[in-house]
Formats: sequence, C-alpha cells, structure tokens
Amino acid sequence: MRAFGYARPADAGEAAALLRAGARAMGGGTDLLTQLDRGILPADEVVDLRALGLSGIEHDGGGVRIGATTSVADVERDAGIGERFPGLRQAAGAVGSPQLREMGTVGGNLCQQVRCWYFRHPDLQCWLRGGETCYAQIGDHRKHGLEPGDCISVAPSDLAAALLVLDAEVETTGRRMPLADLYRKATAERRSTLVLEPGEFLTAVEVPRAPDASTYVIAGERAAWSFALVGVAAARFGDDVRMAAIGVSNLPRPLDPDDPAAGLPGLEMTRWKRRLLETLASDARAAVGR
Ligand SMILES: Cc1cc2nc3c(=O)[nH]c(=O)nc-3n(C[C@H](O)[C@H](O)[C@H](O)COP(=O)(O)OP(=O)(O)OC[C@H]3O[C@@H](n4cnc5c(N)ncnc54)[C@H](O)[C@@H]3O)c2cc1C
Ligand code: SF4
Repeated sequence: MRAFGYARPADAGEAAALLRAGARAMGGGTDLLTQLDRGILPADEVVDLRALGLSGIEHDGGGVRIGATTSVADVERDAGIGERFPGLRQAAGAVGSPQLREMGTVGGNLCQQVRCWYFRHPDLQCWLRGGETCYAQIGDHRKHGLEPGDCISVAPSDLAAALLVLDAEVETTGRRMPLADLYRKATAERRSTLVLEPGEFLTAVEVPRAPDASTYVIAGERAAWSFALVGVAAARFGDDVRMAAIGVSNLPRPLDPDDPAAGLPGLEMTRWKRRLLETLASDARAAVGR
C-alpha cells in the first residue's frame, strides 16, 4: 500500500492551490485511490473536495442543479429527479453497486478515467499514460471502443451519457461549459480526455429543463459491480430525440437517433458491440416514445 498525503480544505482557493501544486482532486476516492495505490497516477497528495459545501440538489424552475460532491446515491434517491429526469435516475442507479453509489460523487463520476485494463496495469505505461504504445491495439481489446484512434479505451460514466442528452452544463472553479465540452480526445501533447486545467475542478452540473421523456439502458456482464459494456441514454423534447452512449468511444458520445452506429465501425475485436449498441439504441428510442 502506497502512502500519500490527505487534505480536506474548507476553502475552494486553498483546494485549487494544492491541486496546482500537483495534488489530485478527490470526491469519494472510489476510482482515484486505486490508481494512486498502484502508482498509475504520479501524485503524493489528495485533496478531498467534500468539505467545500458543494453537495446538494436544487430544483429551480424547470431545471436542476447538482453540486459536484453530491453522492451518486443521492441523485438516485432524489424524488424530483426520479419524477422529471427518470433517465438520470436510472443512470445513477446503474453505477457500480450500492456502496460505490454512496461513496462516489457526481464530479468524480464525470471525471473518472477511461476503462482499459492496460491503462490500469501498474507495470505498463501505455500511450494515454504518456508512453509510446497502445497495448490494447496490439493485444486484447474485446471490451474497448468502436472507433480507431491513438487510444481505443472507453468512457465509462453512466451519468455522462444521461446528462449529455439533457444538454447539461458543468460549472468549474473558473468557467461554465456544456458537458460535452468537458471531454476531448487526448493528443500527443496532452494525454487526457478532460479539458480541465491544473487547479480547476468541477463545482456543479446544471440541467436547464426537463424533457418530455427520458431513459437510460445498459448491457453489462453483471447487474452490479461492473461497468456497462454499452450504455445508451435518450431524451425527447417534443419531437426532438437526443441520444448518447458510453462504452463505445473514449469520450461520452452523442448518437444520431436514425443511425446510432454511424462513425463507429468497430475494431477487430469489438465489432460485436455494434449490434449491442443498435439494439440498446432501438430500446431507448422506443422507451421515449419515438
Ligand atoms: C468495481 C467498480 C465498479 C464501478 N462501476 C461503475 C459503473 O458501473 N458506472 C460508473 O459510472 N462508474 C463506475 N465505477 C467508477 C467509480 O466508482 C464511480 O464512477 C464513482 O462515481 C466515482 O466517483 P468518486 O467521487 O469516487 O471519484 P474519485 O475516485 O474521487 O475521482 C475520480 C476522478 O475524478 C477526479 N475528480 C473527482 N472529483 C472531481 C471534481 N469535482 N472535479 C474534477 N475532477 C474530479 C479525480 O481526480 C479522479 O481523477 C466503478 C468503480 C469500481 C471500483
Ligand atoms: S486503449 Fe488507451 S488506455 Fe488502453 S492501452 Fe491503449 S492508449 Fe492506453
């Protein structure tokens, strides 16, 4: 077990300063601590964000604001979310297990690292971790993405798909942006799928209005304690249907409701996921009434 420092500031400026100095932001720690323990992330200190007063769910007019350190379980339990954003409630209920949902936060869920067994191997420094080689492309990538690229890992956040179709915006310590803009492809110069700058962290996520219908459907190897192989969210605003998926690309991905697998050809070992994606997309579309 590696030892590292722990800070729990009550002031956002202090938290940002510690993060700029190289510490890592922590919500519930359910994803972060295993990476630090294995030496995957080069950090000696974590900054627990849960004393910053960023927890809570506020319904305002037609929308909802969810603080970044709100637990995933509180999203699942919130009566107003269940009533007006059923797809978001379903996505919260799909995360891991009851224990992970109690500990895991909304900010941590949206900012968790991609899934790839090579990325999380303590002895391999793959391309996304700053190395030269994408081991998945020359090795086993049965559960990876459907599009070619430098990194073929998958985005795992159930909440991200459900929030994308609701046109959610995220608020950080320095700016506000559509949730979709929080994610970007990693490049040779910047090996990260998040746009956050050093010291910047999520403070809240806001959904502007409730859809007429919404849903979230997944297929996984088990009902609990495992990530979705593919997860599809759908929301309908009048006649307009929005769809998004996780498990198919290393970013949460908006889908064309008329052609959900467009641009996702599948790789040597992942073509099977196309049929899964199309089936789930068809189920999700039917569930929102189109
Ligand atoms: C066995 C297992 C199964 C899982 N299954 C699922 C699943 O089915 N679906 C799913 O979506 N997730 C799953 N997870 C992943 C994870 O546990 C959850 O997503 C959880 O919600 C992460 O939240 P956290 O607060 O614990 O994140 P942390 O571990 O605290 O942080 C995760 C990452 O986000 C960063 N971070 C945390 N908070 C912020 C913030 N406010 N601003 C910016 N960056 C931040 C951290 O620095 C870290 O890089 C699973 C994890 C395990 C171990
Ligand atoms: S898919 Fe991405 S995370 Fe996995 S080995 Fe390749 S570069 Fe690394």
